[in-house]
Formats: sequence, C-alpha cells, structure tokens
Amino acid sequence: MKDTFKHKGLRQKLVEVVKNKGITDEKVLDGLSKIPRHLFMDSGFLDHAYQDKAFPIAADQTISQPYTVAFQTELLQVKKGDKILEIGTGSGYQTALLCVLGAQVFSIERQQELFKKTSKFLPSLGYRPKKLIFGDGYKGLKTEAPFDSIIVTAGAPLVPKALLGQLKIGGRLVIPVGDQVQTMTLFIRKGEKEFEQHEFGEFRFVPMLEDKN
Ligand code: SAH
Repeated sequence: MKDTFKHKGLRQKLVEVVKNKGITDEKVLDGLSKIPRHLFMDSGFLDHAYQDKAFPIAADQTISQPYTVAFQTELLQVKKGDKILEIGTGSGYQTALLCVLGAQVFSIERQQELFKKTSKFLPSLGYRPKKLIFGDGYKGLKTEAPFDSIIVTAGAPLVPKALLGQLKIGGRLVIPVGDQVQTMTLFIRKGEKEFEQHEFGEFRFVPMLEDKN
C-alpha cells in the first residue's frame, strides 16, 4: 500500500479537525500530518483511517483516536532526545508519532500477535523506536529507567507504582485512569516521593490488563 496525494489531503483535513478540537502544539500537529495512518490499519478499512475515531486492529485491540493520541502527546511535552516509555504499543501509531518528534522510544505490548506484527511494520516505514518489548507494562522497564516521560495507552484501573518510580525528577506520566471510563491524568515528579497530579477530561480506552498473552 502506498501513501498518495489523496491520503495526504485527507490527513491534512484530519489535522484541521484535531486542531479545531483544541490541540495547539504545532510539532504534534505537524507530526500527525506526516504519519500515514491508513497503513496502520487493515486494508479493508482504508476509508476510516482519516476520520477522528478509534478503530479495531488485531487481537481485539484498537488504534487510538487521533485526537486522543495528540492530546496525550501534547501533555508529554516531548523534547528531542527524550527517553520515553510507552505502555501499549498496539498498532504502533502513537509510537511512530513519538519517533517523529525525535524521542528515544521504548514501548511495551502484552499481546504477542500485535508485538510481532508491529515490530516488523514500524521499521518497514522507517520508524525506529529504541526497543519494542513483549511484556507486562504494569512493571514498566526497570533496566532502562529513569524516563523523561511515560505514556500509557490503555485504560488503567489504578496507577501502577512501578511507573511513578521510573520517572526522572521533573518527569511526566500521562495515564488514563478508570474502569469503564477513564480520566486522563498527568503526574509530574517533583521529588523522590512528591508528585503533582492534574486531571483532564474523560476518555475511553481498551483495558490495561496484567501479564502478557
Ligand atoms: N497506542 C496504541 C493503542 C492500542 S490499544 C495504538 O494507537 O495503536 C492499547 C494497547 O495496550 C493494546 O494493544 C493492548 O494489548 C495493550 N496493553 C494492555 N495492557 C497492557 C499491559 N499491561 N502491558 C502492555 N501493553 C498492554
């Protein structure tokens, strides 16, 4: 499958939609305009790729809604070279955006099928995360900690302590917290045991599950 002018045009419109919903970070918007989202979905669903909607991918999971991806990424305040941990690689769409922003990305996925598929797919498009890991994101990634920021892209019933502990001082954790509906939550590490907490609106994600599968 290719990335044609038609796709680019549709993508530009999608970026406008996301912007009109309140995303202001130009780097994030520019990043979205560069990533061929239709290639992250199964070919039969091409028509849906440039609507601002989540969509089913393999293993009963979803590719997140572009607005949600932009919202979470904006909260991360990514700087070039930042070491970022992502929980829930899924299709790799969010991973690709972090790569485009110049971050060193580590991403964990608990579904083996998705892990394998995305591990091959991302480099085929030229996106090179530092490392994709098949594992349980509740544990974070101790061997590579601390991180400038951590992003969770599945609905977390609780805030995993391990993730808070793997942030640098000044580091940011963006995590949707809740069962059926999640509140987007930002934690900023202010000191060894001090965290500032900010809450944003409600979002819906597939659940963050324990252990790998
Ligand atoms: N960022 C992805 C979102 C995929 S949906 C995208 O836009 O495509 C959330 C993903 O989190 C799913 O792929 C799911 O398998 C994964 N997941 C759920 N619980 C997890 C855990 N404990 N550790 C790692 N990945 C997890």
